[in-house]
Amino acid sequence: MENQRRNFLKTIMLGAAALVVAPALRIQQAFADLVKSDDPLVKALGYVSDAKQSKDRKDKKAQCSGCQFYGDLSGKEKQAKCQLIPSGEVQPTGWCRSYSARAKKA
Ligand code: SF4
Repeated sequence: MENQRRNFLKTIMLGAAALVVAPALRIQQAFADLVKSDDPLVKALGYVSDAKQSKDRKDKKAQCSGCQFYGDLSGKEKQAKCQLIPSGEVQPTGWCRSYSARAKKA
């Protein structure tokens, strides 16, 4: 009986800790650094945070949010990881020369 009570209390405490920690991690994730424009890889890829500003972009609808390398599939995040640029996050409105359209769901 005492063990059940102890396990119950332990479960409650772990649940409470998770409720405190999870939002903190979410906040930290929300404030991850954006890629820096002086990053050599960012320059080499011709990344711009506003796709409309790129002279190289041919497809006027192409931007990070529709790229297969963009980390946010929900379309709700203000920025997300790009699989090609490890130094920071990119904006959904961005674009670079390695853009590759994400396959559409069947
Ligand atoms: S590879 Fe795709 S997601 Fe990454 S910066 Fe280029 S366009 Fe954006």
